Amino acid sequence: DEIIRISHLVKEFKTAGGTVHALDDVNLSIRRGEIYGIIGLSGAGKSTLVRCINYLERPTSGDVFFEGQSLSEMKERERREVRRSMGMIFQQFNLLEQRTVLRNICFPLELIGVRRTEAEARARQLLTLVGLANREKAYPSQLSGGQKQRVAIARAIASEPKLLLCDEATSALDPNTTESILGLLRDINRNLGITVVIITHQMSVIESICDRVAIIDQSRIAEEGEVQRIFSAP
Ligand code: ADP
Ligand code: ADP
Repeated sequence: DEIIRISHLVKEFKTAGGTVHALDDVNLSIRRGEIYGIIGLSGAGKSTLVRCINYLERPTSGDVFFEGQSLSEMKERERREVRRSMGMIFQQFNLLEQRTVLRNICFPLELIGVRRTEAEARARQLLTLVGLANREKAYPSQLSGGQKQRVAIARAIASEPKLLLCDEATSALDPNTTESILGLLRDINRNLGITVVIITHQMSVIESICDRVAIIDQSRIAEEGEVQRIFSAP
């Protein structure tokens, strides 16, 4: 059962210096319920791929299918709906500095029209889930990197997405904090049934939690498959 299928995806950027081929005939599929890794060096095309998955970037050619439906054939309103079923977290957390932890988590809920009292009740449950129940009144600047990422995860799953896209989510964290965040992502995957996509340049992250992986190298998929198969010694 595929949640995402990427088919012959090409993304080019026209720049003053010429055409940049950010993605070149990328094909892959992500199964519902799995933890899928996308690994590659800086500049390989990972962020472009993520932005094509949620259609913040329009592919030059090829297509992305969400639950079998072509994103390029959808109306913008339908794409917004799809985007809403994909949570995102980032390397730099992207929290709203002027809002408390609780209000940060409420934000996406309020955007979709959930009443404030209801949003806050849900945000408190999420804070408990990510282990920060006692920090709801704190501001992001008062938190450690790992705590900020926990808040970002709570915010990303607040609207009950089917998929969580993690773009270098542990790259700014030390090894122990990375382990704890990966553990939280694994729990969310198992307990809430959310498909998790991990974009990283760190092999250890892939080995630690991913079921399957795509290796992206110079805008192409160099290899794809089970992590154990791909990283086992020949
Ligand atoms: P990664 O996330 O793996 O570091 P990116 O997807 O950010 O890779 O970038 C892939 C390639 O596309 C790089 O050569 C980058 O410079 C180029 N690129 C990405 N976005 C743009 C853009 N908006 N305009 C021009 N080139 C871009
Ligand atoms: P990178 O440099 O790693 O590609 P960016 O800072 O360019 O990361 O962020 C990727 C894009 O995703 C940005 O345009 C950002 O505004 C957008 N974005 C931020 N929050 C969300 C979200 N919750 N869902 C989807 N896209 C988001």
